[in-house]
Amino acid sequence: MPGHPATLLRDVFGFDAFRPGQEEIVEAVSGGENVLAIMPTGGGKSLCYQLPALLRDGVTVVISPLIALMRDQVRALRAAGVEAGALTSGNTEEETAAVWDALSEGRLKLLYIAPERLAAGSAMGMLRRIGVSLIAVDEAHCVSQWGHDFRPDYLRIGELRRALGVPLAAFTATADAETRDEIVQKLFDGTPPVSFLHGFDRPNIHLAFAPKDGPRRQIMEFASARKGQCGIVYCGTRAKTETLARALGEGGHNAVAYHGGMEPDARRHVEHRFNTEDELIVVATVAFGMGVDKPDIRWVAHADLPKSIEAYYQEIGRAGRDGAPAETLTLFGPDDIRLRRSQIDEGLAPPERRMADHARLNALLGLAEAQQCRRATLLQYFGETETVCGNCDLCDTPPQLFDGTEAVRKALSAILRTGEYFGTQHVIDVLLGNPTEKIRARGHDGLPTFGVGRDLPRPEWQGIFRQMMGLDLVRPDPERHGALRMTEAARPVLRGEEGVTLRRDTLKSKSRRPAPRA
Ligand code: ADP
Ligand code: ZN
Repeated sequence: MPGHPATLLRDVFGFDAFRPGQEEIVEAVSGGENVLAIMPTGGGKSLCYQLPALLRDGVTVVISPLIALMRDQVRALRAAGVEAGALTSGNTEEETAAVWDALSEGRLKLLYIAPERLAAGSAMGMLRRIGVSLIAVDEAHCVSQWGHDFRPDYLRIGELRRALGVPLAAFTATADAETRDEIVQKLFDGTPPVSFLHGFDRPNIHLAFAPKDGPRRQIMEFASARKGQCGIVYCGTRAKTETLARALGEGGHNAVAYHGGMEPDARRHVEHRFNTEDELIVVATVAFGMGVDKPDIRWVAHADLPKSIEAYYQEIGRAGRDGAPAETLTLFGPDDIRLRRSQIDEGLAPPERRMADHARLNALLGLAEAQQCRRATLLQYFGETETVCGNCDLCDTPPQLFDGTEAVRKALSAILRTGEYFGTQHVIDVLLGNPTEKIRARGHDGLPTFGVGRDLPRPEWQGIFRQMMGLDLVRPDPERHGALRMTEAARPVLRGEEGVTLRRDTLKSKSRRPAPRA
């Protein structure tokens, strides 16, 4: 199953971007290097051998100490259409027979085996016959005699590698130097493999998010404050790249649009200009980035919320590769949330994958609405720890928090009283006691919640509703034109069992402009 890593990532695994570290590791492993990769738990190690297994001829043998985990992975791979099988003590006879059939017909791409299997004399002969092209070792620290996870059978892996003469990729979350040395001795006979040990933090990149409040003006201001520096503005649609590039141009910037709908020649021309000119702003869709290798991109702005936290990390990561200070700004609003949710709901992915996509979107929204250090929140998601970075908007200006429990309960009850049938603006009208035509026609002016939110102005309510979406307390229902529905997570709040802390929005124009009506 040949293909391009980014294509396989999307089509087989259903992910839109690599997590930090994955791309480099995938490249080295598929290129046939011996590799040692240290990644935090939950960081996404398995993809780093599963994807290369698809790119390489023959079978990839995966050795893992955890039978349940092997079975999960095999199940997930098969569901994604990849031929994978496991030989473990937990197998039924039929399962084992099916694995052998697939092996003898040369269909199997990944063979998971428990380390105990290596002790059986027959295993080595079998592995020699089946055309193994790569050995992947999960939880590689189990080879360390001094660690508490020591597995004597892991000591046979080095022998297996020598016997098969194929590359080996070892993965672990245990990063201390002694364990690493022991892994290199025992699995690689002391010859240092290509190692990936670095953390994922990019401390020179300043992180910032802002709720949309005149997004074009916000991007213009951000770009103007960095005039003469080279930057990228990512947009959610092709059309927007063109209008925004034009607006920036009219504002005296050197800006061009870039998107997948342009002719290849025109795209190459923009890439070339970007790589060679000093002051260019490229306003692009996510199609821009692959061919870009410019170390001194000083800023990246998102005019729309990215697709996932992985995509966010990858896109801002294009800034400041030279290590010098770089800045980012990501705009987001309720429309982004609505769009991203409906893209997931209307996609063709199977239900479990859609659930995972919603969860990943929640993580990104959690980052957007974070109440303390942005970087700590981001790194936590990728399994690393950080306390306070001093280089993000929330470290610069800690947000004003308030107890939003009462407001959220009022909002939830207004949503329920109106039958979970209306969008944000109508529900806010109910809360504000606004006797609009729609309100009167529906008799919503007679509801007990009518007017209970008069203590807060409309923009404040808008911020509260956006945060409720961000916290996944309510979701727009794609089958009811985005009408808000309460989620399970909101029940304890409604029942008074849980509180909600919210951030006060600091929208610049709050007092200057009447709020837009939907
Ligand atoms: P580890 O073995 O490092 O603890 P896993 O390989 O089990 O982690 O991956 C952890 C989770 O991250 C899994 O749910 C996996 O589906 C998800 N994941 C891995 N890579 C990506 C990616 N590029 N984008 C989104 N999710 C990913
Ligand atoms: Zn910070």
